[in-house]
Amino acid sequence: MSNSNTTIYYTEDTDRSAIENKTVAVLGFGSQGHAHAQNLADSGVNVVVGLRKGSSSRAAAEDAGLEVATPAVAAEAADIVSMLVPDTVQPAVYADIKDGLEAGDTLQFAHGFNIHYGQIEPPADVDVTMVAPKSPGHLVRRNYENGEGTPGLLAIYQDSTGTAKEEGLAYAQAIGCARAGVVETTFREETETDLFGEQAVLCGGVTSLIKHGYETLVDAGYSPEMAYFECMNELKLIVDLLYEDGLGGMWDSVSDTAEYGGLTRGDRIVDDHVRENMEETLEEVQNGEFAREWIVENRAGRPSYSLHHQAEQNHDIEAVGEELRQLFAWSEATDAEESEEERITADD
Ligand code: NAD
Ligand code: MG
Repeated sequence: MSNSNTTIYYTEDTDRSAIENKTVAVLGFGSQGHAHAQNLADSGVNVVVGLRKGSSSRAAAEDAGLEVATPAVAAEAADIVSMLVPDTVQPAVYADIKDGLEAGDTLQFAHGFNIHYGQIEPPADVDVTMVAPKSPGHLVRRNYENGEGTPGLLAIYQDSTGTAKEEGLAYAQAIGCARAGVVETTFREETETDLFGEQAVLCGGVTSLIKHGYETLVDAGYSPEMAYFECMNELKLIVDLLYEDGLGGMWDSVSDTAEYGGLTRGDRIVDDHVRENMEETLEEVQNGEFAREWIVENRAGRPSYSLHHQAEQNHDIEAVGEELRQLFAWSEATDAEESEEERITADD
């Protein structure tokens, strides 16, 4: 069943000279932007951060010792433009910077949405690449500072120079990804698997599973507190085991009763019908229906997003969880750290 013919690149597969004398414009200084910009700069690459005039991120970028300009000016000066503003604002930012893209420059992404769904259409004479750490930006930065790496993806959409891959690998090395391993993929594969994963399993699937489990227990008369612990809190322990040792490691760590019950009942809960729903969800990702819906939703000012966001916040499990998390010991460490921070700030 395996479709695997995956290549993984490491530091020894990269060539610094492919990026050495180039200037990178990092557009945006959020989760990914702050990490890419600082790691690149610490690796000796010329960096200019592109931010709007009134951007609240300007101070942070300047405090980090980085040169800051408007996105248009930064892109004009750069050989590589790294598009690290939110996906929903990238088309507008692109319209602002596209005149600064010269033949042979590179337009680079950390997620494929706007290229794959045709929201950004770069000219044929620039390279279009993706270097996407598989991790939030603060970890990309922290791992780099600790001399460690963060696994990443590399994809080439357009290779007008013939050197897009070497340059992408050198960039991946400069932000620390090649220390851990860089997997080659395509814009299509990254975009579609990313959207499917967050909808069906990671964000959508898992929260829906939690809420259904919680509601089933509460509706049957059990206490909300017990339902919260069972269906939400303990999930972390299980996920940690899965992360460390896979399915087998998790089954080995729980009781035989839990293993037998889980193995015989799991597929009844997440049954063939759920699988069909997943296939439908994947189809909407593949045929662009989800993308169109989300683009239109944004243009309309996010009415449906706001309703769903609000409904989730109002779910009973949120109030129960908030109360319990404050009552129990595992939040003490965080509280102590917070008051320590308050003290230090007060002393300043
Ligand atoms: P973010 O929301 O953390 O940061 C965006 C930054 O862009 C802001 O800090 C601000 O500096 C700037 N910005 C916001 N609105 C703007 C506007 N209207 N015009 C100009 N600049 C604006 O974004 P992020 O999560 O770092 O995402 C950047 C890219 O990285 C996206 O393509 C995302 O899919 C991808 N990515 C994110 C993660 C992650 O964990 N956050 C992981 C992998 C890939
Ligand atoms: Mg994602």
